[in-house]
Amino acid sequence: MKKSLLTIILLYAVYGLILYFYLFFWTGYELPKGIEGTAADPKTFLTTEELQLSENYSQLKNLLFFISIPLEWIIFFIVLSFGISKTFQQWAETASRFFIVQTALYYFWLSLLVTLLTLPVSWLNYKLSKDFQISTQTLNSWLKDEVTDFLVNYVLMAVVVTFLYIIIRKFEKRWWLWAWFASIPFTLFIMFIQPVIIDPLYNDFYPLKNKKLEEEILQLASKADIPAEHVYEVDMSSKTNALNAYVTGIGSNSRIVLWDTTLNKLSEDEILFIMAHEMGHYVMKHIYIGIAGYLLLSLAGLYIIHRLMIFCTNRWGKRLNIQSIRELSSLPLFLLLLGMLSFASSPISGIVSRYQEKQADLYAIEMTKNEEAAVKTFQHLAKFSRSEINPPKIVKFLRYDHPSLIERIMYIENIKNKE
Ligand SMILES: [Zn+2]
Repeated sequence: MKKSLLTIILLYAVYGLILYFYLFFWTGYELPKGIEGTAADPKTFLTTEELQLSENYSQLKNLLFFISIPLEWIIFFIVLSFGISKTFQQWAETASRFFIVQTALYYFWLSLLVTLLTLPVSWLNYKLSKDFQISTQTLNSWLKDEVTDFLVNYVLMAVVVTFLYIIIRKFEKRWWLWAWFASIPFTLFIMFIQPVIIDPLYNDFYPLKNKKLEEEILQLASKADIPAEHVYEVDMSSKTNALNAYVTGIGSNSRIVLWDTTLNKLSEDEILFIMAHEMGHYVMKHIYIGIAGYLLLSLAGLYIIHRLMIFCTNRWGKRLNIQSIRELSSLPLFLLLLGMLSFASSPISGIVSRYQEKQADLYAIEMTKNEEAAVKTFQHLAKFSRSEINPPKIVKFLRYDHPSLIERIMYIENIKNKE
């Protein structure tokens, strides 16, 4: 046991080192040919210092991201192989004879342990964003968000885990199919309540404060048949300097949300471009396409997890302290496989998402006929959010849900030049 743990830690260290060298030394950050001096050339809209800061910030952020991913997997492996999961299950079983209470208790200990062990990484992320003057959040406010996160995830996941194990115990061979069926109404329900119940736990949402701007935005929205009550502003300036806007929720709860930082720092034309981009997502029903894609992937994922859980239990059941997948203590194996598969599928969802983002950009140009404002918006995103301008290939492949800023500026410039 000690030997396999040692091997894993060694592999993890090598992985971290390779990443470090890749991100900081090996990969070239040179710009594509022919863009020097154009609107996509960062030297034309950032100072040397801003450019340097943005590069350093992206490198460190990427390093932290890729280091934190296998960390959770290693934690699950340790929790299994050192019998910690088994102990949690015993505690839960001694405390109550009701299965629902047992899962709630078991999952509480498991998620508490994982949260505490990954807290340093979350803190590093916060610290980094603070050091680079992106986050404006106080430590208290950050901690409060962490606690909220823990509680929200705990409640939602405790429900999921309870249902999952009831289903596994009832249908040992076809549980993946039944679990998938059960996940459909659950996913839709969460998407429905997200903007009205979950998001307000973190931030304040309200109709736009600037009434003159609101009128313009609503005028644009009515062009696309989006009713006024679907547009919101959220108070983010107490937490960050970064800019953002997004579409969320489904059905009567679907809404377009603009961060107040976006409204405060950008010019009216730029805000209207962003708004038109979000309207593009809304009108083209990207959220629903996203849900359908997610459900499709999760059906395949659950089936693969089912096969892998049988395989792992047969092969390493003793080492991992799993006699049967019917036992609650096998949950870390489920979560470990789930984490690995979701990571493996991230390039697929990235491709779909990047395609949708481009569609939304083109829609916004169609709507506003203002390429100038679009280019300025992207330049300002780079400036205020320190968004990475030209990410390395692997980073883009694995974690980009938007085209890079350089690509976005370039295709807008191309439209402009064609006219
Ligand atoms: Zn978008």
